[in-house]
Amino acid sequence: MRTATDTSPRSAAIPGLIGIGVALLLYAIFRWWGFLVLFPWIGSAISVGILIDRRLARNRKGIGRRIALLLNVPALLLFVPIANNENLQLEGIVLLLSIGFFGKGVIHYAVAKVFGPLVWGQGFCSWGCWTAAILEWLPLPEAGRTPKRLKSLRYLALALSIGLPLALILAAGFDVRQQYFRKQEMLWMFAGNGVYYLLAVPLAFWFKDRRAFCKIICPVALIMKVPTAFRRLRMRPTAVDCVQCGVCTLVCPMEVQVMDAIAAGRDVGDTECIHCGACRNRCPVGAIC
Ligand code: SF4
Ligand code: SF4
Ligand code: SF4
Repeated sequence: MRTATDTSPRSAAIPGLIGIGVALLLYAIFRWWGFLVLFPWIGSAISVGILIDRRLARNRKGIGRRIALLLNVPALLLFVPIANNENLQLEGIVLLLSIGFFGKGVIHYAVAKVFGPLVWGQGFCSWGCWTAAILEWLPLPEAGRTPKRLKSLRYLALALSIGLPLALILAAGFDVRQQYFRKQEMLWMFAGNGVYYLLAVPLAFWFKDRRAFCKIICPVALIMKVPTAFRRLRMRPTAVDCVQCGVCTLVCPMEVQVMDAIAAGRDVGDTECIHCGACRNRCPVGAIC
């Protein structure tokens, strides 16, 4: 068990410093200047979000994180596609890998969706995702509920996200290299993300759940689940006893049974956790860190 969470400004700066460290490392290896912009930008936005949330009352915490999400949209949805003409979505990554091109988009994917989750699980979903950046500001309850039986649709979406690009290449002779020369990958990124928004926003209102799209369609979540199972950072019980009020489970946007774990003195190991911190922020006795 742990004691209270560190709330010093210095600890809030850690994401920004990690961003600078990752940028320098990747620049040293791959020599692309864009890394020096991208990762410090993302890390600093997260630090700003943490600092804002620390100043807010318990029932308003989370606004800082949502501001960080918005701050990261230009970095990931505009800067990388425009600066490097790449499609950062899963379908774009499949196309890149199919021609053996280990581009910047693939590196982003490896950092954000594979190696990053070994440290902070699906934290990308709470602090970096450009789709969630819009969903999280919809005028809907903070934590909705989506029928569990629909969640297996994500596997179909994953199969389509991998299968369709491969079919395009194998059956339709899609020329990925020419796409890059003509800067069309960037356009695929914007078009693909437009489709995501067109699905995600109505789904959110239909189920009254901002995260409905994440739970039943987004294929990326499935990829992140694997490293998330081994993540270093988890929501954990503190030395304070849980009074079993149920608030943490109620406010969890991903429907994780938080109270069951904390009351039993266990870490929250569910791979649906996106590390948003809502359970910790709302716990009335400080039983979660
Ligand atoms: S599940 Fe998908 S859409 Fe939802 S926040 Fe994560 S990456 Fe974004
Ligand atoms: S368990 Fe806590 S940190 Fe994880 S998604 Fe639920 S509310 Fe957020
Ligand atoms: S909010 Fe805190 S006290 Fe209430 S059930 Fe969750 S961990 Fe226990």
